[in-house]
Parts: sequence; C-alpha cells; structure tokens
Amino acid sequence: MEELILLKLGELVLKGLNRHTFEDKLLANLRRRLKNHGAFQIYSKQSTVYVEPQSAGCDMEGAFETCQKVFGVVAVARAKACEKDKDAILACAKEYLCKELTAAKSFKVESKRADKSFPMSSIALSQYVGGELHEAFPHLQVDVHHPELTVMVEVREKAAYVHGSAVPGAGGLPTGMGGTAVSLLSGGIDSPVASWMMAKRGVRLEMVHFYSPPYTSPEALEKVLELARLLVPWCGRLVVHTVPFTEIQEEIRRSCPEDYFTLVMRRFMMRCAERVASRVGAKCLVTGECLGQVASQTVEAMASTEDAATLPIFRPVIAMDKEEIIRISRKIGTFETSIQPFEDCCTVFTPRHPRTHPVIADVRSVESALDVEGLVDRAMAAARYEVIRYGE
Ligand code: ATP
Ligand code: MG
Repeated sequence: MEELILLKLGELVLKGLNRHTFEDKLLANLRRRLKNHGAFQIYSKQSTVYVEPQSAGCDMEGAFETCQKVFGVVAVARAKACEKDKDAILACAKEYLCKELTAAKSFKVESKRADKSFPMSSIALSQYVGGELHEAFPHLQVDVHHPELTVMVEVREKAAYVHGSAVPGAGGLPTGMGGTAVSLLSGGIDSPVASWMMAKRGVRLEMVHFYSPPYTSPEALEKVLELARLLVPWCGRLVVHTVPFTEIQEEIRRSCPEDYFTLVMRRFMMRCAERVASRVGAKCLVTGECLGQVASQTVEAMASTEDAATLPIFRPVIAMDKEEIIRISRKIGTFETSIQPFEDCCTVFTPRHPRTHPVIADVRSVESALDVEGLVDRAMAAARYEVIRYGE
C-alpha cells in the first residue's frame, strides 16, 4: 500500500456542533494548498485528516512541508498503510521504518485502536510488534519513557497505519474561520509576526501598506511585498493594498506641531485601513504595536490612535518582548527580510521630541487644521493592490 500523510486536528475537535464547519474549512484549505504538489485525496475521519497521493508523481516531501504550515493541525506524520493484521503491521514497520530503527538506540511501540473490532488490544499489539522488532533489530533498547524512536501503529477504519514520530503542526484554527481582518504591514519585524498570530487564530488577512515616495524607495515597497510572499504559505493568498501616504505626511508636516506628527499620522493610517476594511468586509484591524517599544506605543498614544478608528484594533504582540517576537519571526521565516535596512514612512519626518502622553482632545484639535476627509479620499483613490497567490 501507499505512503500517505496523517494530520492530527487540535482544538478543532472540541468545537461541538461547529466541528463540521471547522473540518470543512480545514479540508478546503488543505486541498487548495496541496494542489501544487500533485493529486491527493484528502478526507477526515475520527480527528485525523488523511492526505493520500493518487499517483506516483505526487511530491510527498513538498506536501509534507506544506501541511506543517496549515493552521488547525497540531501534528503531521508521514505514514504507510497496510492490512489490519498483526504480521502485516510488523512487516510494514520493519520495512518502512528500517532506517529509523537502524539508527535509533532506543525505541518503543505505541498502538491506537480506533477500529474496535480489531481482535487484539492496543497493549497486546504494541507488545507483539515491539517484541518482534526487538528481535529483528537487537541493538535497540526498549525505553517506554524516553525512547529515541516511537513506532506508532494506528488501526483505523480502512487500514492500519505505521509511522515514526510526528512533527508539530502549525496549531491554531483553520484560516477563514475567524472572519477577515485588515493588517497594517510595515517592513519591520513586528507586523509580520502580528499578522501571522492573527492568521493562526483563523483570521483571513488583507494587508495594507503605506508608502511615501520619494521619501521611501521602491526597494522598501518591494521588501513589504516580499514579506507578504513569505506569509502566504501560512496565511493563504494575500492581497496587499498599497496606499500612497506622501501628501498626508507633507500636509501634517506643514500644518501640525512637530511633536504631534506621528500621533496624527497614525490616526490617518487607521482611517485609510478602515476604508480598506469596508471595501473587503473586514471587521477589525491588526497592528504590530508593542507596549513601550517606541514613543507612539504608550497607552496614551495608542488611545489617541484608536480615537480615530471605529473598528476594534488587535495588537497580538502588545505584551511580548522583542526577543519573543524575533523568535517567532525566525520560525515563520520573515526575520531575515525584516532586518534589511530600508526606510519606512514612519521613519520620515520623525519628531525630535514626540509627545508620549498625549491628551486626545489636544490631538483632535491639532488635527482639525487638516482636511481629513479630503486627504483620506485622495490617498485611497490612488491606492493599488497586488494579489499574492500560493506558490508564486
Ligand atoms: P514593525 O516592526 O511592525 O514595523 P515598529 O515597532 O517599527 O513595528 P511602528 O513603525 O511604530 O513600530 O509601527 C507600528 C505598527 O504600525 C506596525 O507594526 C504596523 O502594524 C503599522 N505600520 C507602521 N508603518 C506602516 C506602514 N508603512 N504601512 C502599514 N502599516 C504600518
Ligand atoms: Mg516599523
């Protein structure tokens, strides 16, 4: 029988009556992502998703890696199917896991019997397969507590499955279960991580990026698109809305006191992001703000930003230390791109002494010197978008 991939579902199985919606969403996401790796039959049974190749040409290695980035899955294993018979299972383990069994110093066998009609108990099956493997690979020690290799045997509906240790899945909930959010993506370390964290909880993302030519370069914009490309294997297809911000920033510089520049600018970002949200039906905004990291990320400064927004603003990295954010950034693969030194519109016209504890009424009054609606209208009229598809 063929090799296949088994996926274990996480929290999803706790969702009671919604469970089917969750499973259907996950299966649809998997089918879309795996299309590039060949023809697979993908279905779920008893908290396990089966990814079965339909032809010899399927790219199993690529599919295995792709599965590790699909939210809603807690563990991923390549496995081999065999007949539901103790000796067929043993022969399959000997052959399929030969390399692992030869390399390991210690092992154990763990069995699961989802098919209750199978004549042996899980313990008896583990003992039988374990004993025979021990004889075939006499260098191996049996270690039931900390084995180097765990040989898993799962007796399920259609067949028995044998595999070695599973690798962790991406966790979270299937993308799309949590509605849509507009995520403000800069070229920094934090916003890609914040975006990824929201996507992990099942939120579909639309990205918005503000750029200010000639103060920001085409390379800075390209870097943001590259970050979005790196997020696509996790988040699925992404649309990046690019909003020119030069006029807004120049007007703020012309009409507002310097110490309010950033505060007012951030309110404009929220207004433009909300326009995108209403175009795409998003119900919340996401930023990579982190408490105390910079002058505009004090509680008062964030309150002043929120004052200009009507949608909830989520900030998943708000209470994380930079080290923790960087750790995730490395794990998801955005770090190396994030640290490339390009300017962001936030770093042009930065006040020398930004106001860190603003009073909202003062910010509003400073801002009233501007034609807020007109500026937002013009920026949004000039906004463009780029679609980044999986596998591009
Ligand atoms: P990051 O590492 O994500 O750039 P940061 O610590 O540099 O964050 P700021 O530059 O103050 O912080 O930006 C705070 C948040 O505002 C960012 O995480 C991002 O969500 C949003 N943001 C900043 N600049 C832009 C931009 N040019 N386009 C879109 N969103 C932006
Ligand atoms: Mg930044």
